[in-house]
Amino acid sequence: MTTAPIHVTADVTTADVTTADVTTPDDMLATFDVTSLRGLLPAERDRVLAAISAALEGKPAEEIAAWTARTFGRDVIVAASMQDLILPHLFAEVIPDVEVLFLQTGYHFDETLQTLKVAIRDLAITTIEALPRQSVAEQDAQYGEKLHDRDPNLCCFLRKVDPLARSLDGRAAWVTGVRRIEAPTRANTAIIAWDHKHDLVKINPLVTWSDEDVEAYQDVHDLPRNPLVAQGYPSIGCAPCTRKVAPGEDPRAGRWSGNDKTECGIHT
Ligand code: SF4
Repeated sequence: MTTAPIHVTADVTTADVTTADVTTPDDMLATFDVTSLRGLLPAERDRVLAAISAALEGKPAEEIAAWTARTFGRDVIVAASMQDLILPHLFAEVIPDVEVLFLQTGYHFDETLQTLKVAIRDLAITTIEALPRQSVAEQDAQYGEKLHDRDPNLCCFLRKVDPLARSLDGRAAWVTGVRRIEAPTRANTAIIAWDHKHDLVKINPLVTWSDEDVEAYQDVHDLPRNPLVAQGYPSIGCAPCTRKVAPGEDPRAGRWSGNDKTECGIHT
C-alpha cells in the first residue's frame, strides 16, 4: 500500500511542508472521526468517505475489518445471506459476538437455513433475523399466492427491503459482501460510502474479491459451506427466485430468471 502524500496543507511553500503537513492514507484512516460525519453536509460527507475509501483500496479484507472494528466499535451490523460464512467469520475475529443480520424472508432453501444454524453453532456471532411484517401466509391472504411470480419487486420490498431498513435504523454502519465482479450494477461499488437510503455508513470489504479469493478464504479457514454452491447455485437467494446455472453462464443468471429484475433492492 502506498504511503505517498495525498493531501498537502494549502498556503505553504514547498520548503514549509513538514511531516505534520502531510496526510498519508494511513494517517487519514488512523485519525478518521466517525462522529463528525453526521454534522457534515451530504456532499462533504461523500467527499470525506470517498477519500477514506481510496485509502482502504488495496488493503486486505482482514485489515478493513480491523479498521472497521477500531472505528465503529460494536455499532456495526454485518449482513449475511448464508451463501457462505466469510463475513460472519471475518468480523467475529475482530468483534467478538458481532451482530450478524439475516433477512428471514420465509422463502429460503433448507440448505441456506441449515448453513445459518451452523453459523450460529460454530461462530462467535449474535444472529439477528429480520422478519417481514407479514408471514408468507398473511402476505398470500392480502396479495394472493406467489407474489414473487407476479410482482417480485413488491415481494422483495415486503420481505427484504423493509425489514432491512427497520434493522439498520439508528445504527452507525453496516457491512455487506457485495463484490464488483458480481454484476454491472456493482462494478463501481466503493469500499466505504454513505448509504443515503438508510442514512448510515456502508462498508463493503470484499469488493475487490474474485471467485478464487472467495474459495481461498473458505479453504484457509476451513469454513462450513452452503451445499447449494457446489450443486450449481453460485448466487443464492430465495428458493422461488433462484435456479441453477449452467457452467460458463453468468453466475447471477439464476436470480429472477426470465424476469428483467437483477437486484432485490437492498443494494440499490
Ligand atoms: Fe420474494 Fe423472490 Fe424477493 Fe424472495 S427473492 S423476497 S421470494 S421476490
